[in-house]
Amino acid sequence: MPTAPTNPAAAAPPAHPTSPARQFDVVVVGGGIVGTATAMALLRDAAASGRSLSLLVVEAEPRLARHQTGNNSGVIHSGLYYKPGSLKATLCVEGRKAMYAFCQEHGVRHECCGKVVVATRESELPALDELERRGKANGLAGIRRLGAEELREHEPHLAGVAGLHVPETGIVDYTAVTEAYAKVIRSLGGEIWTDAGARAVRAQSDGGLVVETERGAVACRGLVNCAGLQSDRIARMCGANPDVRIVPFRGEYYTLSPQRQSLVRNLIYPVPDPRFPFLGVHFTRMIGGGVEAGPNAVLALARHGYHRTAFSLRDSYDTGTFVGFWRMARKHWKTGFGELHRSFSKRAFLSALRRLIPELELGDLTPGGAGVRAQALDRTGALVDDFRIVQGNRMVHVLNAPSPAATASISIGRHVAKLAAEQLGLARPVAAG
Ligand SMILES: Cc1cc2nc3c(=O)[nH]c(=O)nc-3n(C[C@H](O)[C@H](O)[C@H](O)COP(=O)(O)OP(=O)(O)OC[C@H]3O[C@@H](n4cnc5c(N)ncnc54)[C@H](O)[C@@H]3O)c2cc1C
Repeated sequence: MPTAPTNPAAAAPPAHPTSPARQFDVVVVGGGIVGTATAMALLRDAAASGRSLSLLVVEAEPRLARHQTGNNSGVIHSGLYYKPGSLKATLCVEGRKAMYAFCQEHGVRHECCGKVVVATRESELPALDELERRGKANGLAGIRRLGAEELREHEPHLAGVAGLHVPETGIVDYTAVTEAYAKVIRSLGGEIWTDAGARAVRAQSDGGLVVETERGAVACRGLVNCAGLQSDRIARMCGANPDVRIVPFRGEYYTLSPQRQSLVRNLIYPVPDPRFPFLGVHFTRMIGGGVEAGPNAVLALARHGYHRTAFSLRDSYDTGTFVGFWRMARKHWKTGFGELHRSFSKRAFLSALRRLIPELELGDLTPGGAGVRAQALDRTGALVDDFRIVQGNRMVHVLNAPSPAATASISIGRHVAKLAAEQLGLARPVAAG
């Protein structure tokens, strides 16, 4: 798992705006998997219709995929969990198929290994029924209900009363996928600038925009905001008024010691708590080797809060002054404290994992990495469940793209590219210059 990045994105605007040295049709802010997938879709659409399109991706960090994309579980989700008809359900199912096809075509290592979801108590059976119903409604092939004995045919060390086998789930390295998207972008004439955080956006008299980046100013006809943990701030920087606030939730992992990795064949998930968009701590065999356990979901005091002690005054102030945060806290404080306890107590983390694999011992777990989820929260205190993508004048803002957005990235990219094309008039021939 990559180490924690350091670059504070979306910093204060420069005191002296510079004149744009270059002109692009589109600037994409954010070089994670969603930004690069969007850039790839825009360039592919332009190439397919014989239009020229000049496009720049600006990324604040020295490398692509250093935040959510490079610090996740690496699971290709099937589309099991999501409300039928939601953007998450349709884009995940379509995106999963596109992800397997892309990896196949571009030689990105991946595996369609399947997973089991396990009900550990009778009280979880109604939620398991609902997952099965959703999976079938979302068109998943081959999902099968398992009894306690059948569960152990898939995962011999499991404890559970019933489960679901989901054969279309897989594993991949999303940093490698992002790098492969970047190759396609460059091959189609797109540019990618790293160490180029967007610091300010201003409108020009001709309706175009100037984006001030850490590598100078660029002019563009339109902008797509895929800045993940900073996406609400970029939207505000662009003059939009997003009705949500990004609240960071850290997900911490342990790794299984090499001699105990045989406890897990593939992927083992609990039945998730339907009140939250998080899936509960699970076991994941990684494509590069090893088995991870986690992630939990702890409120982070910094948007780049990869460690328990990480604190940002600006980020905490932004969270604490948002009315939706206090409404959420009133409703879910107990769960929040439970997650915090699990973050500080390895024993508490172990006991959540032991519900799935009772043989697991404290010494089998070594602290692993962490990722921070960019979870949008609305003013009512609800964690926004679906992907949220909004259009503005010559802009598209991706304001909520949590899991399964890595899986769904190709289809999210196509969806955003379509909105951007409408918004920017890209269906028309692009003027030279
Ligand atoms: C712990 C964890 C586990 C997960 N597991 C899975 C999984 O197994 N499967 C799955 O499908 N999804 C998973 N997800 C979700 C998935 O990782 C995200 O949905 C996805 O990576 C979002 O991609 P993104 O491009 O929107 O965000 P990011 O990857 O965060 O990219 C945003 C980029 O914008 C850049 N940026 C920010 N501000 C600026 C600025 N001012 N100028 C320029 N650039 C800027 C950042 O540096 C960053 O690189 C997981 C997420 C987490 C945190």
